[in-house]
Amino acid sequence: FSPIHIIGGGLAGSEAAWQVAQAGVPVILHEMRGVRGTDAHKTDGLAELVCSNSFRSDDATSNAVGVIHAEMRLAGSLIMACADRCQVPAGGALAVDRDGFSDAVTAEIAAHPLITVVREEITGLPPKEWDLAVIATGPLTSPSLAAAIQSETGEDSLAFFDAIAPIVYRETVNMDICWYQSRYDKVGPGGTGKDYINCPMDEAQYNAFVDALVAGDTVGFKEWEGTPYFDGCLPIEVMAERGRETLRHGPMKPMGLTNAHNPTVKAYAVVQLRQDNALGTLYNMVGFQTKLKYGSQAEIFRMIPGLENAEFARLGGLHRNTYINSPLVLDKTLTLKSRPGLRFAGQVTGCEGYVESAAIGLMAGRFAAAERKGEAIVPPPVTTAFGSLLGHITGGHLVSNDEPGKRSFQPMNINFGLFPDLEPGSIVKPEGVHRFRGKDKTIMKKQLMAARALSDCASWLGPDDGSAQASGSAAS
Ligand code: FAD
Repeated sequence: FSPIHIIGGGLAGSEAAWQVAQAGVPVILHEMRGVRGTDAHKTDGLAELVCSNSFRSDDATSNAVGVIHAEMRLAGSLIMACADRCQVPAGGALAVDRDGFSDAVTAEIAAHPLITVVREEITGLPPKEWDLAVIATGPLTSPSLAAAIQSETGEDSLAFFDAIAPIVYRETVNMDICWYQSRYDKVGPGGTGKDYINCPMDEAQYNAFVDALVAGDTVGFKEWEGTPYFDGCLPIEVMAERGRETLRHGPMKPMGLTNAHNPTVKAYAVVQLRQDNALGTLYNMVGFQTKLKYGSQAEIFRMIPGLENAEFARLGGLHRNTYINSPLVLDKTLTLKSRPGLRFAGQVTGCEGYVESAAIGLMAGRFAAAERKGEAIVPPPVTTAFGSLLGHITGGHLVSNDEPGKRSFQPMNINFGLFPDLEPGSIVKPEGVHRFRGKDKTIMKKQLMAARALSDCASWLGPDDGSAQASGSAAS
């Protein structure tokens, strides 16, 4: 076979290279570090962890990150094999010795007979003679390549910052307090006039909330990030600092909304939640992008009436992050619609986190290898963590129906809100259990989703796949 070119030797690119090579196809891996650095990386090692040394929960029975770990292990992941080998104690989390981990990945890639590493910056889109290529250049993609991607995908399809509003699980919102309604009952394309969940506040609640926002602990920007405030994207706490009334005239305005539980009393302020995935299991807090620390966010946002028991699929943030509008520009196999043979992988596709980036790298590598070998490309079932994450990236996400043209695709960690729901009737009270409360049901739901995912992933891979992959030296 002629080689597949992979640009970027981070978490995604290293995993993609490994998967392609393990499928028997040669790889040329182009990594610029060694020639040119990034603002966050400190070494020339492949798969360097730029911040925390944690791969998060390793619980495959009821945690979505643990499930994707397990699926990656089943698929013979290099990243997981090296992480397991370099594990350091961290309770239920999988944390690693960061240097040992990067050294292990670098050594495995260097030793693979089908992988050649070239230390160079790729400054434009791959030349046409690289008929199959994967761009896995991450959140800090070098500026010249970013410019080339932008000119290929269109100006609005490449973002340089995340402005992330928190996302809550719909089932944890208290609908005895909140109600469904679009402002002025407006029916947009595909809408019903009841597209938002509304959380009402009285004057005292609003004042206490503003005070808490202003007093909350925030995370500063790194010097190289600059301060990416622009119109319509101010952090919620910065808006609160600008004046007590600012939020009430901005994202928390109560106009055009009537409390279905109390129609005669006008809310003083309203927090709106907008559906965030096609399944309707996740809702984002409209206009609530924030630099508050995670601990402060959960505490302060649970002050909002109706969100007192809210569970967050993702908390808010504002970061430097280069990523494409994948649902618009990629097909279901991570290929750029405008350039057959050119795939994207890792954080640049709009997933978030080390593990998710490596998982998308794993899928891109497998898809590219299958294409090179002339085999059918079979994406993972939507019930798996792989399939759920891929669905978020390549089109499972809603496009905002009331603000045409405004990008609504935001990077996302893997979470159970991305998985399709269970068959009705799946959750049944175990025999002999006296009290079976909401919390018990939620745990059972996660357990059933996790078991379904692993079983479907094993079927997708087939009986020989994982063992064939794992027989490489990385797993030994
Ligand atoms: P990377 O691991 O960044 O790999 C991309 C590679 O491409 C790099 O090696 C880079 O040198 C190379 N490259 C870039 N441009 C070119 C080019 N033109 N030619 C050749 N090579 C190129 N996630 C977490 O889970 N936990 C965290 O604590 C965490 N902290 C983060 C902190 C920061 C400052 C940033 C920016 C991100 C953080 N992330 C974190 C998010 C993300 O998961 C990681 O950035 C992850 O490394 C992404 O994997 P990747 O393979 O997509 O990109």
